[in-house]
Amino acid sequence: MPKPRLNVLIVGAGLGGLSAAIATRLAGHEVLVLEQASTLSEVGAGIQIPPNSSRFLISWGLREAIDRVSVLPEAFRLRSYRDGNVLSEQPLVPLTEEVYGGPYWHCHRADFHKALVDKCYSIGVKICINSMVTKIDFEAPSVTLASGAVIGADLIIGADGLKSKCREELLGRLDPPQLTGDLAYRILIKVEEMRKHKDLEEFIRKPAINFWMGPQAHAVCYLLKGEGYYNIVLICPDNMPENINVMTADPSEIRQFFKSWDPRLQKMISLVSSVTKWRLQNSTEMASWTHPSGKFALLGDACHATLPYLAQGAAIAVEDGGVLGALLGKLEDRSQLPAVLKMYEGLRKNRTTSIVLGSTDQRDVFHMEDGEEQKRRDEVMLRDAVRPGF
Ligand code: FAD
Repeated sequence: MPKPRLNVLIVGAGLGGLSAAIATRLAGHEVLVLEQASTLSEVGAGIQIPPNSSRFLISWGLREAIDRVSVLPEAFRLRSYRDGNVLSEQPLVPLTEEVYGGPYWHCHRADFHKALVDKCYSIGVKICINSMVTKIDFEAPSVTLASGAVIGADLIIGADGLKSKCREELLGRLDPPQLTGDLAYRILIKVEEMRKHKDLEEFIRKPAINFWMGPQAHAVCYLLKGEGYYNIVLICPDNMPENINVMTADPSEIRQFFKSWDPRLQKMISLVSSVTKWRLQNSTEMASWTHPSGKFALLGDACHATLPYLAQGAAIAVEDGGVLGALLGKLEDRSQLPAVLKMYEGLRKNRTTSIVLGSTDQRDVFHMEDGEEQKRRDEVMLRDAVRPGF
């Protein structure tokens, strides 16, 4: 008997929605992605793609496209905030390929997103922009757009991010993400500016992830492809006005906050001419990601937004897409769809919850005040370089 060919509708063309689109299309189904924005792009600057994500991307034929726009960091270096001394160094090349089956890539988000969009188009995924979903009929199933148009499908996947309308429709109530008490300053500085300072040379000579830990804050820095830009993320306590989640900030804020940190980090911050800050929010675990009709499921930040302290938010959204696509590829009869969605949820929910909770726990490790506990942490890090686990 021929396998069923479903019409799958995905809400949201973010990294999660596009990954699900690729995996589902490669599994033999028709895929339409609806995106509210008027252009296809990604906001923010750099992104880390760990091997639990790169393995899927490679299996979809994306190694060359992402390699072309990425840097391979040789190591992950955890540093003390005061002097930048390396407390722990975890090699990434060739370890992640050999042990975890994929590279650890860095790239600009826009390049990652474009690689996914190009792949979608090359395999026949349809993407419609200017298509904001405002309502879902879970039984039909169908979505209503802001324009009033109604679009039906066999299966609807809600991949519409942190402030998900799909989650709200599924729950039948507003369910805003929770504040975490932290924010992220996201910054790009020009490598040619860094080159003027001899003491910054080590950060651009050999690509690595450099990570400074200090009281209430941390900094994550890495080189982007082409040596044009250096990516800096500074995490600090949330100081944003109520109800504003993204805004431009005065660079003097970060100069003041980090004034007693490693002089080299301070020097990088002195090169910053413009900066945006983002309130960091996450989700509590939902009771279910699927609708009882068996024709709808959530994916990515829409159901498991996380603090970025394990660099896993997009990675687990890619995993969601990969697992969903693999299961849909096994479908032999349409009547199996509700069971397949339950299986998807069963395979994913515990894992993503442990990553969301684990990311929050990392804050206590990274943001320790100076004192006995912090000295013990540093001693342990110096003694046993911890292997990453993907
Ligand atoms: P989104 O990227 O939010 O995409 C949702 C899409 O849905 C958007 O395009 C939106 O326009 C669209 N949409 C929304 N509502 C509707 C609607 N009603 N109708 C139609 N379309 C709609 N993750 C990593 O793996 N590695 C990292 O290094 C990393 N660093 C991070 C650093 C910071 C500072 C932050 C804040 C996050 C970081 N993350 C990282 C997390 C990662 O960015 C997110 O987890 C990931 O982008 C979520 O993807 P998504 O597709 O689920 O959601």
